[in-house]
Amino acid sequence: MADYKEKYMRALKELDEAEHEAADKIQALYQVLVSILGEVKGHHKSVDEAIHSLPKALPNNGMVPIDKLSVIRALMVRYFDKDDMGAAATILSTLLSHLKVSDDLHENIEALEENLAKARTEKDLQAVTHKVSREVLRALSANKAPSDSASSMTSIKAGLLLQLEKLEELDSGLAESIKVAGLHNLLERMDDLPGLGFVYKETFDVLGRRIVKKNEFIVELSGLIETVMHKLAELSVDLKQEGINEVDAIKDRWRLTELMGGQINTLQDSVLQTESLSTLKSLLTEQLGEFNQTVTDFAELEEHRANEAEEYAQSVSNRLKKLESEAEELKLSLLQAHEEALIDVLTGVANRRAFDERIRLEFERWKRNKEPLVLAVLDIDRFKKINDTYGHSVGDKVLCTISQLINKQVRNSDFFGRVGGEEFAVIFTGSDVDNAIKRLNQFRASVEDCKFGYQGKRLTITLSAGCALFADEDTPDSVYKRADQALYRAKESGRNKCLSEREI
Ligand code: GH3
Ligand code: MG
Ligand code: MG
Repeated sequence: MADYKEKYMRALKELDEAEHEAADKIQALYQVLVSILGEVKGHHKSVDEAIHSLPKALPNNGMVPIDKLSVIRALMVRYFDKDDMGAAATILSTLLSHLKVSDDLHENIEALEENLAKARTEKDLQAVTHKVSREVLRALSANKAPSDSASSMTSIKAGLLLQLEKLEELDSGLAESIKVAGLHNLLERMDDLPGLGFVYKETFDVLGRRIVKKNEFIVELSGLIETVMHKLAELSVDLKQEGINEVDAIKDRWRLTELMGGQINTLQDSVLQTESLSTLKSLLTEQLGEFNQTVTDFAELEEHRANEAEEYAQSVSNRLKKLESEAEELKLSLLQAHEEALIDVLTGVANRRAFDERIRLEFERWKRNKEPLVLAVLDIDRFKKINDTYGHSVGDKVLCTISQLINKQVRNSDFFGRVGGEEFAVIFTGSDVDNAIKRLNQFRASVEDCKFGYQGKRLTITLSAGCALFADEDTPDSVYKRADQALYRAKESGRNKCLSEREI
């Protein structure tokens, strides 16, 4: 029943919205339904309640005021809405029982009544409804009129005449378009039921065609409006995804929605007020043109905004790239400056600052893993004499040569640097004192073996060293101090020697 009900409700809604006035006029012609309602009394509880709620003035004489019909229609809708098959079936069976049928139709009607009693679904009910309406027309056009046909005919004729007059009065344009004057004359002259049936059918056919056409047009129209709104929604989503100039874009979208809403309202008003299909068509064309313009303007505005935003984003991105490369350059030069700051200018080996940094680092590492760590201090023997004898610049050259000579022998994991005038330091990592002394003696021997030439003479340069092992409670200073003491001892005991703290 739900599908049938839904279709029925939708059809009624469309009719209400677009054809309110015209529908009332046409429904006035259905006054006969009112008298059926009156006859239904006592057959079904919900029908009784509905009839009871109708205006007291509701008569059975077919002279119901037009405005009351919408009330009746609403009640009928309510029965269908409640899925009340019982109510619908009662109405139909009453209609059947009121058909003044001729004898030869009698059997047919009885069969219909049986079908009706068996009807369980809306499909059954629809089938019976169709047959009933066919029988009504057949009854009206049957040659053999029932015995009291004269009074029925007079009543129906009066009802039709009244409604045609009302139609002329309310909507002369519509009346003229269905040639109501001709129908009027035809009706006046009719004094038999087939003729009456003809006029009745004629009137409905003409009105029905108009309604159907107009309804189709309205369905088409609402489809178009839906498409426009859908496109608009899509456009809004696209723009949202762009995520540009959000605030302005939102404002504009609101403005667009308002504008479109206004235009749609105007269009709806036009549809409701216009009777002529051609007028409606031209109105629709005009309105769609306006829609199009509005959307085009909006799209242009958005495109302009998008371009601006893109340009801005591009310039920001370029600036960012420039800043990034500047920062990179700065980082490199800082790194270079730092490295330079750690190198001794005269000899090209690590300087005192580099030693301070490294000894602190190795000390922290030693505290964590306690792997043996040895610090050695080296000092050139009698260097003052070299300066004094050969000059300061020769002394400088000697310093450079010795620095490079030792530096290339030191392992990558160890450290070598010039920490004073003619003093050097070595940090032996992962090495015990014996190994350190062994390595220091290698350095010492290489210096001694080095051939320093000056004005054809061969100079022999020697150095002395002292070393100490990091132990509990030690700090870099305390270890340095013990290494220095060992160096002093080496000098004291003849120079060109390497001693450890054990020999202090
Ligand atoms: P010792 O064996 O006891 O170490 O005797 P020494 O002469 O090496 O010791 P001393 O400390 O008396 O003299 C160190 C000399 O090193 C003094 C200074 O002129 C010299 N000196 C220090 N720095 C430089 C430098 O950069 N270039 C040169 N040419 N000489 C330097
Ligand atoms: Mg010295
Ligand atoms: Mg010295």
